[in-house]
Amino acid sequence: MKPDFFNIAAKKKMGNVEGWQWYRIEAIRDNFFLVEGGIPIGEISRGPNKGRKKWAKGNGDKVLITREEIDQAQSEYETQTGNCSYCGGEGKHVTGWNKDTGNKYITCPSCNGTGKTAGADKPEPQP
Ligand SMILES: [Zn+2]
Repeated sequence: MKPDFFNIAAKKKMGNVEGWQWYRIEAIRDNFFLVEGGIPIGEISRGPNKGRKKWAKGNGDKVLITREEIDQAQSEYETQTGNCSYCGGEGKHVTGWNKDTGNKYITCPSCNGTGKTAGADKPEPQP
């Protein structure tokens, strides 16, 4: 599955606090994102939102991240894993769902379905 680069970038800026997650993202002029998050205080145990994370009210952390920081999180991921950051190494994206056939996929346009970074699959130069 594709990693959540917003979370990686924002969490890094928060000092990589264990368990930190965003719950709201506001885009500001295309290149900035105001990310609000924190550490969930538990899970909702009943009702229609059962299983969703519960957040403390009104005291979330606010952190501003830039598109460059997201790009950086993506390239760090690619360097560390060798996986395509666009599809998270799966080589495909879910485009829909059908009750008879399940998930519908398209081939990842970034890695052409290999799941690897563009550089990783280059053939060795021949003498
Ligand atoms: Zn891909």
